[in-house]
Amino acid sequence: MGKTKHTGPIKLSKKPKPSLWASKVPFGLGKIKPHHIRDTMRVVWENKDNLPYATRILTQGVCDGCALGVQGLKDQTLTGPHLCTTRLNVLRLSTMGPMKEDILHADIDELRKMSSTELRKLGRIPYPLIRKPGDWKFSRISWDEAMDKIASKIKAINPKQYAFYLTSRGITNESYYVAAKTARFLGTNNIDNASRICHSPSKTALTRSVGIGASSCNYKDWIGTDVLVFWGSVAANNQPVSTKYMYAAKRKGTKIIIINPYHEPSMDNYWIPSIAESALFGTKIADDVYQVNIGGDIAFMHGIMKHWFDMEEEEYGSAIDHDFVNEHVNNLDELREKVTAYDWEQLEKSSGLSRKRMMELAELLAKSKSAVFVWSMGLTQHRFGTDNVSQVANLALLRGFLGREYCGLMPIRGHSGVQGSGEMGADPFSLPGGEMDDEGRKRVEKVWNFDIPKWQGDIVGVSLENALLPEDHERKLKLYYMSGGNFLETMPDPDFVKKCLESVDIRVHQDIIFNTSTFVDAKEAVIVLPAMTRYEQPGGGTSTSTERMVYFSPEIKGPRIEEARSEWEIYVDLAKRVKPEESHLIDFKDAYAVRDEIALAAPNYDGIQHLKEKGDLFQWGGAWLCEDGICPTPDGKGNLIPVEIPELRKPEGHFYVTTRRGKQFNSMIYDETDPFNDADRYDVLMNEEDGKKHDIEEGDAIVVYNKYGTFNGRAKFEPIKSGNVEVHWPEGNELIEKGIYEEYAGIPEYHAAAIVEKAETYYAHKDTKYVEKRVEELEMEIS
Ligand code: SF4
Repeated sequence: MGKTKHTGPIKLSKKPKPSLWASKVPFGLGKIKPHHIRDTMRVVWENKDNLPYATRILTQGVCDGCALGVQGLKDQTLTGPHLCTTRLNVLRLSTMGPMKEDILHADIDELRKMSSTELRKLGRIPYPLIRKPGDWKFSRISWDEAMDKIASKIKAINPKQYAFYLTSRGITNESYYVAAKTARFLGTNNIDNASRICHSPSKTALTRSVGIGASSCNYKDWIGTDVLVFWGSVAANNQPVSTKYMYAAKRKGTKIIIINPYHEPSMDNYWIPSIAESALFGTKIADDVYQVNIGGDIAFMHGIMKHWFDMEEEEYGSAIDHDFVNEHVNNLDELREKVTAYDWEQLEKSSGLSRKRMMELAELLAKSKSAVFVWSMGLTQHRFGTDNVSQVANLALLRGFLGREYCGLMPIRGHSGVQGSGEMGADPFSLPGGEMDDEGRKRVEKVWNFDIPKWQGDIVGVSLENALLPEDHERKLKLYYMSGGNFLETMPDPDFVKKCLESVDIRVHQDIIFNTSTFVDAKEAVIVLPAMTRYEQPGGGTSTSTERMVYFSPEIKGPRIEEARSEWEIYVDLAKRVKPEESHLIDFKDAYAVRDEIALAAPNYDGIQHLKEKGDLFQWGGAWLCEDGICPTPDGKGNLIPVEIPELRKPEGHFYVTTRRGKQFNSMIYDETDPFNDADRYDVLMNEEDGKKHDIEEGDAIVVYNKYGTFNGRAKFEPIKSGNVEVHWPEGNELIEKGIYEEYAGIPEYHAAAIVEKAETYYAHKDTKYVEKRVEELEMEIS
């Protein structure tokens, strides 16, 4: 762990810098861009019944939006206000009142007609509910009845037959920790969290490459680094205040490089509302954009390294930081052998980039003294996500861009709970403070005073599939306890997921609101438990940002939901009902006691026990992990990992398909239209040249299809790499094959190959060409 401490926020100069302006026309008039003032006014209107409470949440609470991290309106990077429309959009979830009785107990078929966006607006879940087979509506149930029913089911089945899942929706470290402990106390390792479907490969790859499971650096390192690379990350859209840091970086001369199949408009120019000159004239963000093929990143990075090795042949030390590599890095020869074995033709074909372009970035990085690599789901949500991320680590290790100021590896997180969930052990491969291995188990058993099960728990996708196993199978999933989450809208193949959810005996939805998955039947009962938000929990709660800041969010005075309870308290209640004779082992007096124990069980979190007041925080691990190049690996060195170029499985005549986010926060959609490109949820982003080749014009109804599903949309010509199309997530999940998990981290594959056709062509030939013949063709071609 690093010895240097974060030095706190810096001041941003107010002196205008016209060279960074996106346009000389004020307010970007005539351009497609978000309307921050209009959006803010809409939020004020939505929260008009509870404005004082809304204001207190914003000024005192820790944001429950993305994991950029802000306490009140202040962050640790720049002085000045920190607020964005993502936070404002989720605010209503915390300020709205309970659902009306007639909605809560409405006919289930009526509720099923609503989208998650509509359901979200109905209000909070006020008290526990139950629905059994044959019931057409939810009935009220007492907490005691609900918890006893869940507990007696747990007692009746094998611990391998139930599982826990926790989403990232505002959940605190305290709740993750107690859930992780409860699962093991009850005897199961089947516990997983939302990072399984977003950043799990980042943790796995960083652990094997450099021994860490989190960002090695801070946002402050962006500001003044020579090169800031965003790899498969649209931070301007998903972590909006990051644009302020990008602006500060540009003022210091940092070059910003974007690598993405789609030339995302929000990463090009952005009107940052809290910076006067940017609000007026916008800020040009990207210095260069590399439009890589979907899945072509490994080849692109091989191209960069191949050129570095060529440069080294010409002049020793012209590309590789030999001092750093000799002292701190293993496997140089193995990596060189792998990289140089590929020829440029292979690299160009897979990456979709020319040799010249790959060499350009290689040379820029070779002559830079510092760089920060930021990535997101463009790299992780692949069946080779761990290799993608290790390949980024390879670049950083060869250039010594690690463990010092302005350098680092940063998996930027999309949800405020994601970083903490694994670190608290709500993960089948982790325990609080480390891995789920013999050593980790012994370490945590000493704190918990009970044995932790030794068998390997299942990842979320496998738990779901286990619901379809035969009744007497040891791992047949019979009870699924979910804190938030909506697998119908996050996992591939929604029809299959529905079947899995229906096949469970008891499903528990511990949540603040209804979503579409709440209404799926179960064999014995669906039980809904009302949870508190992080702002309501007595004793407050903490959450960990991407840059490892552990922020304390206090309990905030305001209206409360009738029977909602702190999530961590619900887990304790359950544990005690299942094993009353051992209840002393899982007892916590209050949230402070939970934090006291976290400090013991997760050594990195020593310090969390002192967080008690608004504004309290600490950063675990210091400013830089791997400081001075010393990695927390067994030999203290980073490992270069030779990786194969993946087979991209795109048969002739197919497109690569990926999913993207529009105006949404994770799977919560806030607007049908993306304010950056005017695309609606059913627009398929495609290259104009590809359109011409397929006789498709802008606005044409088209069908994107493969053997897994069919997506009916409209063609929208955008600057996207030829041969690739993007559809919105989760609407496009129909096209994704189920059951394909990344080998090391278990993230589902979220990409596919598909045919794109004009709708009239597709439907004219559907019966003969598609159903009878084409499906067979596709099966042979893809599998
Ligand atoms: S950028 Fe992220 S952390 Fe900051 S206010 Fe917006 S949602 Fe919250």
